[in-house]
Amino acid sequence: MLTNSVIRDYFKCEYKAYAKQQDQVGTISEFETLENKISEVIKERYYSQLLLDKKTVLNDFDLKKIILPFTEIYVVNPRLKTKDLDISFDAIKIINKSHENELSHDCICCPIEILPRKKITANDKLVLAIKCLIFSQYCNLQIETGQIIHAYSMSRVNIKLISYLKNAQKHLKKILSLINNKVPPDLYWIEHCKVCEFQKFCKDKLLERDDISLLSSINKKDAIKWKNKGIFTILQLSYTFKPKKREKLDSECTKTDASLKALALRDQKVYVKELPNIKTYETEVYLDFEGIPDENFIYLIGALIITNNKENYIYSWIDSKDQQEDLFKWLFDILKIYEYLHIFHYGNYEIKALDKFNKCSGNFLLQ
Ligand code: SF4
Repeated sequence: MLTNSVIRDYFKCEYKAYAKQQDQVGTISEFETLENKISEVIKERYYSQLLLDKKTVLNDFDLKKIILPFTEIYVVNPRLKTKDLDISFDAIKIINKSHENELSHDCICCPIEILPRKKITANDKLVLAIKCLIFSQYCNLQIETGQIIHAYSMSRVNIKLISYLKNAQKHLKKILSLINNKVPPDLYWIEHCKVCEFQKFCKDKLLERDDISLLSSINKKDAIKWKNKGIFTILQLSYTFKPKKREKLDSECTKTDASLKALALRDQKVYVKELPNIKTYETEVYLDFEGIPDENFIYLIGALIITNNKENYIYSWIDSKDQQEDLFKWLFDILKIYEYLHIFHYGNYEIKALDKFNKCSGNFLLQ
């Protein structure tokens, strides 16, 4: 059956969408539970706001049976249910310009989707477009725009459906063929697996067959490429490693070599492509930031400062985003003591944030 979650999950993982439409249930991760809770809070706030604004609001209506006043109304949780589909929106705004009291082509409909995240992706827009396409076909409506309301700030993004129509039709076709297929799609370990409800089931299956996609340096595209060459397992991949010549190694030493990783797993050894040349500095600062990337919010800074072989751990945290500047000022005030320092960081999360606040504070840190 085609449902909201099948459409949404299709863009995360085809296997998940297939499992969902087969009514398989996994263990919902804490991340997904939190996302669902945030969505519920935003929905409640949005529905209360409609009432405060004295809008006409109807609840849980079957759009096919709706009787419209000759004005603007909001239908909360409109749902289309047949034996093959069960699709709903969080709300739909209908402006009736005709003198009929039924839904018709003269009605302006704007379906509304509420999402928990601050960042809206192209796939979020496509999901909305696909659902609009289904609604418009089923109810014989012209839907020109849809709206996504997202995050606690209830920011709004309007979407012109015409720009997504072609893609929406293409993906809807693919989703329908996926759910009508008797054979499940191929399974790959992907980024979403970490928070997916079927994580244990899929990991056990992939481990059992020593699947190549389990290697963290191999994404789905790479895994497909290897499979097309007849390499399906990590063990098979380990036999493809060939040590490179010195000059080639120099130009490629930063690349992760999946086959070398596979070899390390096979031999249960750690291989180092090239010994790093780590210099020592008078003052070394090892930084670690914790934050919510989706909200550009860093709430904890920790640092290990080593100067003249003496170690000093410092840390500080904040409760709200408006204290962020103070948090960085605290860090810069400490670092100001040292004339020269060298900063070490794990990924680019720390350095990007540092760069941003460094600029705001008048480029105190010179590179
Ligand atoms: S665990 Fe990974 S592969 Fe399995 S359904 Fe979830 S996202 Fe897909």
